[in-house]
Amino acid sequence: MATSMTDQCLANNKRYASGEASHKPAYPGKQPIQPAKRVAVVACMDARLDVEDLLGLQTGEAHIIRNAGGVVGDDAIRCLIISHHLLNTTEIMLIHHTRCGMLAFTDDLLKAGLEGDPAAEKLLGQATKRAFTSCQKASATPSAFHAFRGAIEPLDAPRDAKSTERLAWDVRRGISAILNHPWIPTSGADAVSVRGFIYDVDTGLIEEVGYPGPMGSIG
Ligand SMILES: [Zn+2]
Repeated sequence: MATSMTDQCLANNKRYASGEASHKPAYPGKQPIQPAKRVAVVACMDARLDVEDLLGLQTGEAHIIRNAGGVVGDDAIRCLIISHHLLNTTEIMLIHHTRCGMLAFTDDLLKAGLEGDPAAEKLLGQATKRAFTSCQKASATPSAFHAFRGAIEPLDAPRDAKSTERLAWDVRRGISAILNHPWIPTSGADAVSVRGFIYDVDTGLIEEVGYPGPMGSIG
């Protein structure tokens, strides 16, 4: 069986983590619009992730879809549908990462802080070490921030079993959102594969999240 592009990216990642650079930054010349490796990556916007570098992807080889958390929400789904049906990608990689800011707040806390709750402002200021300045206004949008489920931890805290589990839950939610979307085929002749990963910002290595897997408890 041929090695998947996702597996090639995993092999590239091991070389990246050991200090080897594989991404070529120079203009590669004229290229087709379809990503050459037929890969679409959904990853967090965190400044410590250089997705092309850490997966050894070159210009023209993949779609890189990024947002806060690498969450599979409406806009990521929109991008993945276009990526597959119009631009021929067949492998999806979801990448969350350790020390993610999305582990350090809840949707309710951030909304309350933005709306002017003094206790929320104080907590957010302490967590981020910057003066959190409320906008003192309500807003209907964004409808959600998609902060990760579970008890919040300090911003940029080192990984531990609990935070890794919280990251894995959200990766699994993302995989599920893709697997169950009617416009993203995951079986049959036009099937797309989906795999999820956690990138460790302290080692440069990515590790796979099993799916399906535990989703924790509200207790
Ligand atoms: Zn993040």
